[in-house]
Amino acid sequence: MPSIYDLDVADLASLLTGEPRYRVDQLWHGLWEEGRSLGDITTVPQALRQRLSAQFAPAIEVANEVASDLGATRKWVFRLHDGATIETVLMSYADRVTVCVSSQAGCAMGCTFCATGQAGFTRQLSVGEVIEQVMFAARAAAPRRLSNVVFMGMGEPLANYRVTVAVVKRLHEYRSMSARHLTVSTVGVAPAIERLADEGLPLTLAVSLHAANNTTRNELVPLNRRYPLERLREACETWLATTSRRLSFEWALIDGVNDTDRAMHELAEYAGDLRAHVNLIPLNPTPGYLVRGSRLARVSEFRDGLVALGVNATVRRTRGRSIDAACGQLAAVTDGRVSRVALRSR
Ligand code: SAH
Ligand code: SF4
Repeated sequence: MPSIYDLDVADLASLLTGEPRYRVDQLWHGLWEEGRSLGDITTVPQALRQRLSAQFAPAIEVANEVASDLGATRKWVFRLHDGATIETVLMSYADRVTVCVSSQAGCAMGCTFCATGQAGFTRQLSVGEVIEQVMFAARAAAPRRLSNVVFMGMGEPLANYRVTVAVVKRLHEYRSMSARHLTVSTVGVAPAIERLADEGLPLTLAVSLHAANNTTRNELVPLNRRYPLERLREACETWLATTSRRLSFEWALIDGVNDTDRAMHELAEYAGDLRAHVNLIPLNPTPGYLVRGSRLARVSEFRDGLVALGVNATVRRTRGRSIDAACGQLAAVTDGRVSRVALRSR
């Protein structure tokens, strides 16, 4: 059964043919502005709610919830209708509330240092399954307003292109979210970046670079063998020329692998040409990758070195490590391991 969030406003209007126009508005308001579930939109008659509830079902169901950072980071494992599981992370900061959504159940890209990549691909998510993650997080964030959506959970958003584009459009149109507040993170699917540039969408693009020489990047990010750094650069140039929007690079610092002075100079050259902002993330531990993240002192040194080389670089504060909710740790584990953590952090 589909989710009501699979519908756009025209779909809903045609579904309600014969009903007064204000019914569409009431439903739309309840769903998108207030983030209510169908049964809770009490402004519309019960008979209509029942008719719709028989046609549409919630796409996601909570299988587990854990919290850390004194409740400022919350992670949910959601079960989908076919038993597949995904994860969503809500992070509250002083100035913003951000939800990190999954775009696929699992991921086929196989990046060696990423728990999602280690676990492999299950399936694509639908529009409704992604939007419901956002709406669930918006309800959980209340009374604060959910301000940012980042596609940095499980999956490669540009390998689920149609859905990613539809979700961005709807969040922009129906929830008035601006480009600064919507970020798609990609491992570097070059042709999809070029296609995305042409959509004229209001969003910020983050590219997970991690290495600026092909030998190291081939090892960390297998997709680099298909779209090596030279090809990725072309796509980034197209993005900049077409959208005039800033680009950012993600760089998970791995001890002895991509935190050397040589790696710093390679990155400075690559990012400098594209005037990209660099986000440094200390590598988060995952079960399948035994190399360590860089020491914190090295993280700061690396950032200072980049800045001295003229690159706009910042360190991203890690959230949710203790509950496996940090970047690259999402593997939708619902076994005893996560449950024990859940007990500890409550
Ligand atoms: N597939 C997309 C988006 C999801 S991954 C992408 O790769 O960009 C979200 C971010 O987490 C990416 O920047 C990814 O490189 C990073 N990441 C993956 N594993 C990580 C780890 N173990 N530690 C830190 N960051 C990691
Ligand atoms: Fe997939 Fe991104 Fe993880 Fe690579 S880093 S395996 S693209 S989720």
